[in-house]
Amino acid sequence: MDAINLSYWEKESFYAADVIIVGCGIVGLNAAIAIKKQQQNLTVILLERGFLPSGASTKNAGFACFGSVSELIAQEKSCGTAQLHQLIKKRWQGLQKLRDIVGDKRLALQSNGGFELFKPSEATLKDKCVSKISHFNAMVKDITGAENVFSVANQKLESFGFKGADCLIENKLEAQLNPGKMIKSLIEIAASLGVIILNNCSVNSFTEEGNNTSVFTSQGKFCTKKLLFCNNAFANQLFPQLKLKPGRGQIMVTSPIKDLKFKGTFHYNEGYYYFRNIGNRVLLGGGRNLDFFTEETHQFGETPLVQNTLLSLLKEVILPHQAFEIEYKWSGIMAFGPALWPIIEPISKNVFCAARCNGMGIAIGSQTGQEAADMVLQSL
Ligand SMILES: Cc1cc2nc3c(=O)[nH]c(=O)nc-3n(C[C@H](O)[C@H](O)[C@H](O)COP(=O)(O)OP(=O)(O)OC[C@H]3O[C@@H](n4cnc5c(N)ncnc54)[C@H](O)[C@@H]3O)c2cc1C
Repeated sequence: MDAINLSYWEKESFYAADVIIVGCGIVGLNAAIAIKKQQQNLTVILLERGFLPSGASTKNAGFACFGSVSELIAQEKSCGTAQLHQLIKKRWQGLQKLRDIVGDKRLALQSNGGFELFKPSEATLKDKCVSKISHFNAMVKDITGAENVFSVANQKLESFGFKGADCLIENKLEAQLNPGKMIKSLIEIAASLGVIILNNCSVNSFTEEGNNTSVFTSQGKFCTKKLLFCNNAFANQLFPQLKLKPGRGQIMVTSPIKDLKFKGTFHYNEGYYYFRNIGNRVLLGGGRNLDFFTEETHQFGETPLVQNTLLSLLKEVILPHQAFEIEYKWSGIMAFGPALWPIIEPISKNVFCAARCNGMGIAIGSQTGQEAADMVLQSL
């Protein structure tokens, strides 16, 4: 389809570029920034189908984390110790890269620590996690240089005001940031380097002829030399062969709580639930494990099962003694797959894909974007 009434000038300036990137999330923006930083003269257009980025990057919880102890145990079981070491390293370095590119102030980064919460009914999991603390501390020290990153912090339980929890494992390196400010800053940085970002432009298909690729979108046909898909959970709509599945995350945020007793990021039930403070509000999300089948979707939305469970968790465990209203609710779509590594690979000679951050894109998104940029630049 050709867009109507386009001028010669518009077609020349906005509809052709050396590199076209699909998806204005953390991966697409970092790829665009990395390409422009390395090859300033290349023209780069970023196409985003939403009015705002409409996947995960502005809809997440803003945990700057590299894994809670129970998550790391599960991941070590699935990929082995050596690969887990590499994975934590990638997450840690990715976070440092994001901080270098954007800056802590613009990310609204706060180092309040992260905590994993256990109930008495989870004694077996709790004991296993506590027994693994020294193992993961050695691994994390090797990567970050920091000593005793994980520790049991039960003495904080009472002051945090939780009910029905009897164990807390602290991660002193975990932090929180503001995903809206993160993406806004990345957009500003990309624009300052000359990247053109076009919104409300959905990429539907493409054809390749020699070194010219035509990209067919809801706003007409674009031309490029290299086409990079950074559309994460939606990549399998165009490339069903990719090993990734969507996973919806539902989130709610309370009204401001008078004298909120805790600050930090919290993981519960092997990472399936997560909560944090946003100032004196509480953000709570998760519950995909209640119904994996329904939550494996590209559709945004809420379900009574997940919403009611989140609400009970807030009322019974997190804010048992405080009145609150739910003032915000939303959902975002992540990409998961059999391997914990992102997919960063060519689809053909001139078409590439970087997707599947497995729910940890704040940590690995910047590095994934950089590696995708390197792959595209090497092919030029
Ligand atoms: C509820 C929730 C909570 C999370 N919490 C955390 C957290 O605390 N910490 C953490 O590290 N990670 C978290 N994540 C994961 C993290 O947000 C993602 O891993 C990361 O944002 C993925 O970035 P991305 O750039 O790959 O994808 P996305 O941000 O999804 O970007 C892809 C973009 O592609 C666009 N797009 C898709 N198809 C097309 C098309 N055909 N044409 C044009 N554009 C298209 C989409 O609109 C979207 O904007 C969370 C995710 C969710 C959903």
